[in-house]
Amino acid sequence: MIRVGVNGYGTIGKRVADAVSLQPDMEVVGVAKTKPNFEAHTADQRGYEMYAAIPDRAPLFGDAGVELAGAVDELVAAADIMVDCTPSGIGAENKSLYESYDTPAIFQGGEDADIAEVSFNARSNYGAARGADSVRVVSCNTTGLSRVIAPLQEAYGIEQVRTTLVRRGGDPSQNTRGPINDILPNPISIPSHHGPDVKTIFPGLAIDTLGLKVPVTLMHVHALNVTLESDVTAAHVRQLLEGESRIYVIGEGMGIDGAGKLKDFAHDAGRPRGDIWENCVWGESIAISGRDLYLFQAIHQESDVIPENIDAIRAMTESATAAESIELTNRTLGVGITESPVGVTDTDTDHSGVEAADD
Ligand code: NAD
Repeated sequence: MIRVGVNGYGTIGKRVADAVSLQPDMEVVGVAKTKPNFEAHTADQRGYEMYAAIPDRAPLFGDAGVELAGAVDELVAAADIMVDCTPSGIGAENKSLYESYDTPAIFQGGEDADIAEVSFNARSNYGAARGADSVRVVSCNTTGLSRVIAPLQEAYGIEQVRTTLVRRGGDPSQNTRGPINDILPNPISIPSHHGPDVKTIFPGLAIDTLGLKVPVTLMHVHALNVTLESDVTAAHVRQLLEGESRIYVIGEGMGIDGAGKLKDFAHDAGRPRGDIWENCVWGESIAISGRDLYLFQAIHQESDVIPENIDAIRAMTESATAAESIELTNRTLGVGITESPVGVTDTDTDHSGVEAADD
């Protein structure tokens, strides 16, 4: 069993801990928290051993009726691997703690790329993280872009990626974030940081990204334009993306016309916390003009990186191949939306050009 410690138990950390607990080859050794808030009580109920991230605050946990197993140093010492899920910049401060115990560590996308040996996306560069002592699982947006870029690059070659990212203002619990009533080019300067971040996974890729922020908490939406190196049909691209286990191509008959209905779909399907681990690509949006591919996809910022963290653990511990890990992670979490799109018949979706696409 791989003994996993989680430092930082917020949006990402609590999901990582739950995902680890579902793996047959992993166990949660404990989670470190700064304060005994509602999430500490939930962690307690789920049976996770609790460690004080800031030892001076340990008495607060006792006062709140949350039993502590120790301080974060003890968690790091006990773990085979740490997953740092603290806010951006804190991971960099924690790095020396992990190193002092020789405990390999995974950092999240809010950290600079140079915090770790490898920036990671399971579909794109699993092998690069094999045996690494430090890995950064790239951000929700970079994960979402990488999952689409990898198959397109392999199947057709990519000349240029241009993407506009319409980003949620904050997560549902982030009540101090915004905008409340505005549309912000963010950053105003171009490119946004996302393009360079994607290049940490695909060095040499030509990619330009523009970012905006809007007053929603639901999901991000990306508008992609990818100039391919081959002539292909939209049907062929669609079939390619449908073959990706972490991409859900939304069928035309589903009536899902936005992020709101996607979230409803996830809640109705009984997904934990309404999570959507998959990229959600609108099938109707997949269009080709010359060698330019266009599509819209929605990315659930709170959850798409969770399967990637699990795969990063297996890559670093060299306990599975990419295919084995991705399959196991998908199966245990329930990744993969398999509902047949209602109202789509064979004649609605033209796959006739599929076999000839490489011509
Ligand atoms: P969050 O604020 O929801 O959770 C962070 C948790 O860490 C909080 O519970 C906070 O109290 C705790 N914390 C603060 N200082 C700490 C310390 N010194 N030691 C231990 N715990 C500490 O943040 P999040 O959204 O989960 O983000 C965590 C990381 O994941 C960031 O790098 C972020 O960029 C990245 N990420 C976030 C999202 C997202 O949309 N939320 C998506 C992908 C990646």
